Amino acid sequence: MADIAVIGGGAAGAAAFGELLAQYDAGTVHWIVGQQAPGRGVAYATGDDRHLLNVRASGMGVFHEHAEDFIQHASRQLGQVKGTDFLPRRLFGDFIQAQVGARIDAARRAGRSFRIHPGSAREVLARAEGGYAVRVGADRWLDVSRVVLAIGALSQRPLRTVSTTALAGGAYELDPWRLDRHPKPPRRIVVIGTGLTAVDTLLSAAVRWPHAELIAVSRHGLWPFTHSALPLAPYARQEELNQALLGSCGPAQMLRHVRRAMADAPETDWRSLVDGMRPINALLWQGMSHARRRQFLRHARWIWEAARHRMAPASGEAIHQWQEEGRLQVLASRVLDVDGTSPLQLTLRERATQLVTTIEADLVIQATGLDTAVAYGAHELLAQLLRDGLAVADPLQLGVSAQADGQLVDARGAPLPGLYAIGSLLRGNLWECTAMPEIRAAAHRLAVQLATAGRAGGPRESASEGS
Ligand SMILES: Cc1cc2nc3c(=O)[nH]c(=O)nc-3n(C[C@H](O)[C@H](O)[C@H](O)COP(=O)(O)OP(=O)(O)OC[C@H]3O[C@@H](n4cnc5c(N)ncnc54)[C@H](O)[C@@H]3O)c2cc1C
Repeated sequence: MADIAVIGGGAAGAAAFGELLAQYDAGTVHWIVGQQAPGRGVAYATGDDRHLLNVRASGMGVFHEHAEDFIQHASRQLGQVKGTDFLPRRLFGDFIQAQVGARIDAARRAGRSFRIHPGSAREVLARAEGGYAVRVGADRWLDVSRVVLAIGALSQRPLRTVSTTALAGGAYELDPWRLDRHPKPPRRIVVIGTGLTAVDTLLSAAVRWPHAELIAVSRHGLWPFTHSALPLAPYARQEELNQALLGSCGPAQMLRHVRRAMADAPETDWRSLVDGMRPINALLWQGMSHARRRQFLRHARWIWEAARHRMAPASGEAIHQWQEEGRLQVLASRVLDVDGTSPLQLTLRERATQLVTTIEADLVIQATGLDTAVAYGAHELLAQLLRDGLAVADPLQLGVSAQADGQLVDARGAPLPGLYAIGSLLRGNLWECTAMPEIRAAAHRLAVQLATAGRAGGPRESASEGS
């Protein structure tokens, strides 16, 4: 039995499934896609064309091959687009579905075996004779030799400071993509968070409720920086900088290297330096001790996220214009408490002055970004995997413990044969692994690895494979 199950119907699952369809011929490839339309996941299910990709069109793709295909696909819908454009995410969702459809057609022609299963994977059990039994929905079982977990980030949990009264009242929205659940126009909306998800939430809310007052609150009150309209020249001494960063002993020294490089090359845009670090980000993270990683998360994560995951220029213009017009206010404050029903009362402590104030809002939307704290989430499958020792939570709650190739490890650090993850679950191991450029490269590598193992004849790899 050399079948494979890919679990998760988002972009990462689509990339893994499509790559396996092209490369894996040792058994059936199953794709368990969850409840939504396969291929789109959280990021590309939006129907709001104000929600833009935060990567230029030329950098977006699903599979390793056909790098230019997204630009051609988008041009057919929008007229001529340029590789430097930041396009609507909806278009990329359409593109993923078309690309997977093409892979399915090719797989049929080649006589490859595959199945697509609507519904959720609810259990993955290790079988005594090797391989796994995967339960889909209530009672459908699949016997496979390998499993690829592509389940994305967890659904947002409410902040600890939100009372049960506030949660029950209906004016606290935990899903920033479900503004449609609020038919009554709110007079004042508070969005908790100032990251990319918060930006999209505000872009939708401002149009949906044109008379609403908008407030965004986060600890530092910092928006993601914007991309430049056109690609920037690379930093001439990036290689040298990257070597120095790789030789550093922690985030503080890394920051000194970056600052020095910026001072030495004042003509270079700092964004080039950050982008030029992309190939070594995982290595930098892996080179840090647990204590250094913790230090980075506590002191530098907020600024790293804003600098590394930047927003499209058009999104930035809208946000900054509303701020200038006074329609949108940004508060650098900690949310101490959210209580009441209608309106909700938010108690905030301002970062600069430590002053505590209370404000009211008709609608509060939590947009605090990726949640990868698997030990605390309510994900049924992950909870079972943790319980059975088939997954171990990353010590910093950044997904699960895994090797560099995505193979999960048990509590002793020993690889779990045939059990892999891709995407957000691997943040603890790779840190930067959630954007499409990284996901498509990882999906390709994994498919090559599994196809090679499949061709070698063994239904299961040894426990040390991929180490
Ligand atoms: C709002 C937003 C915008 C983004 N914009 C960009 C961008 O412009 N460019 C870029 O490169 N990256 C972007 N990203 C990063 C993004 O994370 C990746 O591009 C990619 O969409 C991640 O896909 P995923 O499949 O890992 O996760 P998800 O999109 O979360 O998909 C996971 C899927 O698995 C399903 N699932 C969960 N559990 C199970 C189960 N037990 N059984 C079956 N199915 C299950 C879920 O329902 C979900 O559909 C963005 C992310 C977000 C959230």
